[in-house]
Amino acid sequence: MEKLYADIIVDITHEKLDRSFQYRIPEKLREDLMPGMVVTVPFGRGDRRIQGYVVGITDRAACPPEKMKEILEVQMEAGSVESRLIALAAWMRDMYGSTMIQALKTVLPVKQKVRQKEKKSLRLLLAEEEAQEKLAFYKKKHQKARERLLEALMDAEEIPMEFVTGKLHVSLEAVRALERQQILECVRRIEYRSPICLEGDTGYRLRLNAEQQAVADRIIGEWEQREHPVYLIHGVTGSGKTEIYMELIAHAIGRGEQAIVLIPEIALTYQTVMRFYRRFGDRIAIMNSRLSKGERYDQLQKAREGLVDVMIGPRSALFAPFPNLGLIVMDEEHEEAYQSEASPRYHAREAAIRRAEIEGARVVLGSATPSVDAYFRAKRGDYTLFTIEKRAKESRLPEVEVADMRRELQQGNRSILSGALRRRLGEVLERREQAMLFLNRRGYAGFLSCRACGQAVRCPHCDVSLSLHNNGRLVCHYCGYEIRKPERCPSCGSSFLRSFRIGTQQAEELVQKEFPEARILRMDLDTTREKDGHQKILEKFASQEADILIGTQMIVKGHDFPKVTLVGVLAADLSLHGGDYRCGERTFQLLTQAAGRAGRDELPGHVVIQTYDPENYSIRAAADQDYKSFYEQEILFRRLGGYPPAEGMLMIHGSASSQEHLALAMDYLKKFVEALAKSGQVQILGPVDERVAKINDVYRKVIYVKHREQKILVMIKNKVEQYIEMNEGYHTVAIQYDMQ
Ligand code: ADP
Ligand code: ZN
Ligand code: ZN
Repeated sequence: MEKLYADIIVDITHEKLDRSFQYRIPEKLREDLMPGMVVTVPFGRGDRRIQGYVVGITDRAACPPEKMKEILEVQMEAGSVESRLIALAAWMRDMYGSTMIQALKTVLPVKQKVRQKEKKSLRLLLAEEEAQEKLAFYKKKHQKARERLLEALMDAEEIPMEFVTGKLHVSLEAVRALERQQILECVRRIEYRSPICLEGDTGYRLRLNAEQQAVADRIIGEWEQREHPVYLIHGVTGSGKTEIYMELIAHAIGRGEQAIVLIPEIALTYQTVMRFYRRFGDRIAIMNSRLSKGERYDQLQKAREGLVDVMIGPRSALFAPFPNLGLIVMDEEHEEAYQSEASPRYHAREAAIRRAEIEGARVVLGSATPSVDAYFRAKRGDYTLFTIEKRAKESRLPEVEVADMRRELQQGNRSILSGALRRRLGEVLERREQAMLFLNRRGYAGFLSCRACGQAVRCPHCDVSLSLHNNGRLVCHYCGYEIRKPERCPSCGSSFLRSFRIGTQQAEELVQKEFPEARILRMDLDTTREKDGHQKILEKFASQEADILIGTQMIVKGHDFPKVTLVGVLAADLSLHGGDYRCGERTFQLLTQAAGRAGRDELPGHVVIQTYDPENYSIRAAADQDYKSFYEQEILFRRLGGYPPAEGMLMIHGSASSQEHLALAMDYLKKFVEALAKSGQVQILGPVDERVAKINDVYRKVIYVKHREQKILVMIKNKVEQYIEMNEGYHTVAIQYDMQ
């Protein structure tokens, strides 16, 4: 193929330019131009010179070549961080099916039109003697302002501009005049906005125990020997995984490499950040979703400019533009938040492994409850598996008991607390220790349902149950639709409407009623809405201003409270019946993590799991703290059902505002896939309504395509993409893909 034309994406900040443009490749660049390069091109009527990314090279012109403009020059060679990130974007596009521009926007730090904050200060240019002369001159001429300024400059090396125009009352004109006369100079520095303020000692380091050291040694030993290694550390909560990560990061830094540490936002607590800070000082940068666009850009810029060595943050931190990336750590590897919900719907684990391949880096995954996906691959030999079964500090794993709520009810206990949990709570309060009660729900009372007909009150736009809030209103958590609590059932008119399952606030009230003396804190989306609300509640609890912390899954991640000796799971079943193949896995993870909160210090811990389904294997395995037995049963279920990771699964999501269009389009799509799949062992399910069948008046359906080999599914996805592109009928239907 002759390299004649290049597809170029320009200025990705403009939604309107969400497409590539073709440019002629000049003779002199034909040899060297490669996808991934950053070039300068003329653009628009005025032929403004702007930056563009080469995303493809071809010998076929998309429009008459004489009308095409020509690339001016190459700005950055392939091989720069940008081009490696562009290569990652191209992989994402292929794997997860999105537009190239969506993929680029995901991986490249989008230049925002935010002004960087500049700090100006003034510095004297004169030698002592000259300055004295000038000062005498100003005094004689009664130039008071200049006199003040000069005196100040003679006293200090540098004085901030605000001080000059503020406290000293010197006008800008006077400053300019002196600058012109070369008496002083103005120094400008870019001030990076720092989202967190950290202080204290740094350089802190623990001595690893034998198990930790063995893991670190093996990984460090293979640093230069193995290509693209991926490691999975399966270590119980408190086994010291974070210390291992820090050892590896220190090793990377020692080699002049940088490290990315992915931590789900919810676990990215002050405590965690402080641990990294104490070891690495301000060589770390933090990303989180609360950063402003400017702050986010600054953090990325620091990475590019070598001002930091470690980027810590959730999913998007993976794209930190480090020049020499050596290590990607992914803590809490099993977390759902690593799955992107926006196109391209990438999984951060897969993307991290891909990025590490491109960069020549290594990936370390860590979890107390590895995802079935990762564990499956580790057992298959794709990853190196390490298992650590005991805690780093001399503390035993907690004792777990299961309370059968069916029996409680038979025995006439209608309370939210089983006998066992009530008794243990009483003991904890007596001993002045602390307890955490965990409820996998938000809001006041969950939903409102009718005892006569069984229907829940639902959002007319989103087809989800409305949540009952404590102000008596029903709210849709997707679109915000809100109504007063109705007197009668909208379906059958019965007045037997009642809130069914219970929410954190109601749980708080009920527990308070049983233990009037107890000081209770509640943590859920409502109490953490204000800035740092999360932090404030945790701090209060840590300083023992409360005896009991009640909350949603927010409270089970990553916090270390030495005085907590009891964890109660109020209703383990809540996460068990959500209707998809991962509910068992999710329940096991949540329960194990909740249990891991108990007895983290010297005091022994107790866990009570309340459930209506005590025979369920996820609940039983969590109670026994037996990951392997959970995994064996779960993988059996996945094999029987043909679910990932036993088989690959491609989901084709369709959405449209017209229900008829969507139904028709998805039916045709299914036929198309069926025709494609005729020869192979491909299983096709659907189209069916998504679990939330309608959001904001947009209807949603999904088709599931299953096959043992993922590459067959990628091939099917590519064909589907082409089919959709060529087919007018799909203009009103948005299609997205999930690859599992
Ligand atoms: P994980 O990340 O596996 O949950 P952490 O790294 O947070 O475990 O360690 C749990 C606790 O044990 C922390 O308080 C940590 O300071 C402590 N710890 C970890 N490793 C050691 C060690 N080698 N010596 C002493 N204490 C340790
Ligand atoms: Zn009813
Ligand atoms: Zn709604």
